Amino acid sequence: MEDNANYKNAVDILSTISILKESFSVTEIELFVKLTNFQTYKEKVKIISQGEPAISIICLITGEARVVSNDYQLGILRGGDIFGESMFSHEGIRTANVIANTDVSAIIFTVEDYERLIRISPSIAQKYKLFFEAIYEYHKRKDDKFFYVDSTKYLALIAHNEMKSSLVEFVKQHIKLITKFPLVATGTTGLLLHQATGLVLSRKVKSGPLGGDQAIGSMISTNNICGVVFFRDPLSSHPHHADIEALSRLCDVYQVPLATNPSTAKAVLLYLNNTPLEDKRTFSLALTKSQENQSRIVQKPGESKK
Ligand code: PGA
Repeated sequence: MEDNANYKNAVDILSTISILKESFSVTEIELFVKLTNFQTYKEKVKIISQGEPAISIICLITGEARVVSNDYQLGILRGGDIFGESMFSHEGIRTANVIANTDVSAIIFTVEDYERLIRISPSIAQKYKLFFEAIYEYHKRKDDKFFYVDSTKYLALIAHNEMKSSLVEFVKQHIKLITKFPLVATGTTGLLLHQATGLVLSRKVKSGPLGGDQAIGSMISTNNICGVVFFRDPLSSHPHHADIEALSRLCDVYQVPLATNPSTAKAVLLYLNNTPLEDKRTFSLALTKSQENQSRIVQKPGESKK
C-alpha cells in the first residue's frame, strides 16, 4: 500500500486498538500494512461469503460490518477488528458471512502478501502465521460451542407420585428395551428410578410441578423426544394441570407417541424399538398447514404485503 493517509490511518488503528497491538511492534505492523491493499465496500455489500476459499485476512479500518451465519448474527465488527484468519487454517474456508452495515474501508492481506512477507522477513512472517492460527483456533472452539445443537432423541419418563411405583415396576420389567434409548426424566421420577432400578439417565429436567413437564415439552418442539412415557394419576388433581395438558398437546402437535399407562407404554416401546430413528415422527397435515399459515404472516424481504 502507498505511503499515504490511508496507510498512516491503518497503522495507527492496528497499533492502538486492534488485537495486533499486544503482540506486535509498530515496525512489525507497518511492514504488515505496507504489503496489504486498501479496499472500500458500500453499505450492505458482502465482504466475505461463508464457504468461499479463505485467501485473505481483512482488517477493518473504518465503518461497521456484521458477522452472520445461518441467519444468526454472531457479532459486529468495527475499526481495528480483524477477520478471515481461517486463511492460515488447514480448512481454509470462510466460516461466516461478513456484510457491511455502513460504508466500510479495510486493508486486505492475501496469501501472496504473506509469501512476500516470508521473503522480506521469515521470522516476522512466522510470527504472524502463529498468531493468526491461534486466533482461528480460539474462534473455532467458541463457535463450536455456539453452534452445538443436541440432536439426540430421548425417551422421556415421567410419573405422578401415586403412579411412581407403577413406573418403577414397568422399568424393571422392560429394562433391556428401555436402556436402548437415551433417557430424560423429570426430577423426582428420575431420582427414584435411579435409586430403585439403577437406571442411568442422559438428562434430567426439573421436577414436573416446577417446570419439568414444560422442559420436556420444549424438547419435543426441538425434535429431541422420540416418545413420552408419562404415567398420569387419573384420580387426583394436580397444581400443574396446565403443564400436563400442554405436554400432551405438544405430543399431538408433533405426533410424538405418548403412553400414559403400562399397556400403552409397552406398545410404544416396541414401536420405537422397531422403527428407524428418522421415521419416528409421523407426518402431520395439521402441523404442515399451521407452519404454512405462519410463514405467510412473515413477510419475505422484497415482498409487498397483499
Ligand atoms: P416429578 O414430576 O418426576 O418431579 O415428580 C412429575 C410430574 O408430576 O409431572
